[in-house]
Amino acid sequence: MENSPENCNVKVALHIRPLLRHEKQNGGRECLDVVPGTAQVLMGSHSFIFDHVYGGGGSPSKNMFQECAVPLLDALFQGYNSTVIAYGQTGSGKTYTMGTSPKESSHIGLMFQVMTMIFNKIETMKDRSEFQLHVSFIEILKEEVRDLLDSGIVERLETRDGYPENAVPGKQPLQIRKASDGGLSLNGSSEVSVSTQKEMSACLEQGCLNRSVASTDMNNQSSRSHAIFTIILEQKDKTKGEANSSELITSEEYRCAKLHLVDLAGSERAKRAGSEGVRLKEGIQINKGLLALGNVISALGDDKKRKEGLHIPYRDSKLTRLLQASLGGNCKTVMIACVSPADYNAEETLNTLKYANRAR
Ligand code: ADP
Ligand code: MG
Repeated sequence: MENSPENCNVKVALHIRPLLRHEKQNGGRECLDVVPGTAQVLMGSHSFIFDHVYGGGGSPSKNMFQECAVPLLDALFQGYNSTVIAYGQTGSGKTYTMGTSPKESSHIGLMFQVMTMIFNKIETMKDRSEFQLHVSFIEILKEEVRDLLDSGIVERLETRDGYPENAVPGKQPLQIRKASDGGLSLNGSSEVSVSTQKEMSACLEQGCLNRSVASTDMNNQSSRSHAIFTIILEQKDKTKGEANSSELITSEEYRCAKLHLVDLAGSERAKRAGSEGVRLKEGIQINKGLLALGNVISALGDDKKRKEGLHIPYRDSKLTRLLQASLGGNCKTVMIACVSPADYNAEETLNTLKYANRAR
């Protein structure tokens, strides 16, 4: 069976962005090589193999949606949870890849293609099934979870030119709760019902506006928070169960699954970004989430360990606790590690390659 736990459901792709204009102007050179026709990447004496490599001489980036996202969308409609995660240092292309920035509207990221396909699929299936879609959008900053679809945040943002160090806007941090189905839920987070692609995009845009950003030396839109956009799909089979309406609804007739799209905080070391004080503390806690995620994904990707029933350390961070019901088991996970090809980013790029390689 395709979705059996025997099957490795963790895939790791590398996305190499091109040298940016200012990098070329500053004399930046490329320090990564893709072995032609393979998913193998060379950097100095190091060699790494991934499931897919996009850009930088690997496959064209336009193949990414088909190869990385479509299997997850199929799983979503079959009732399985799945997760796409963008990892990498600030400026490596996470937001560009995911398409979570309303500013980059000229470029079509995964998010737009995912939404388009969901609504197209629904359109072709609506005679047989009834669908309901909800979205939620949260961020994790300093191990606190906040609702990005809480409209209160926007007003408060507009009255300030940035976030004061100790008072991140938004309502009280959300509490993580055990849900009745064994998964984890967020107490008080908005799940917004959407029925068109336009409505879904509007939620994405609103959340992006609310997303906490603070400037660092490296990138003044640097995001130090993890953002999780979740699409929840409920479907009821209209062709079954109508004869005896008093019967309990079976799993064949009703399915509910989630697709998480995760734009992680920058993976760079705090000192490299020139962060100080409170920001440094955030940097350390962000790394706690990234560290826990690396450990979880690496444990899941290790067939031998998994079969021996090894403990998967979900509880080590908010990020992994929230994604717990969508990582492992029958869930499909794709990590897209984003890297800059520039030689002066070599140290962080190597860190990303190692992290992603471990996840595989
Ligand atoms: P991150 O979210 O990891 O901090 P961004 O997605 O904001 O990085 O990308 C940093 C810059 O690089 C942006 O100006 C973006 O337009 C550009 N960029 C990133 N990936 C690509 C790509 N594959 N092709 C062209 N430009 C890219
Ligand atoms: Mg970003």
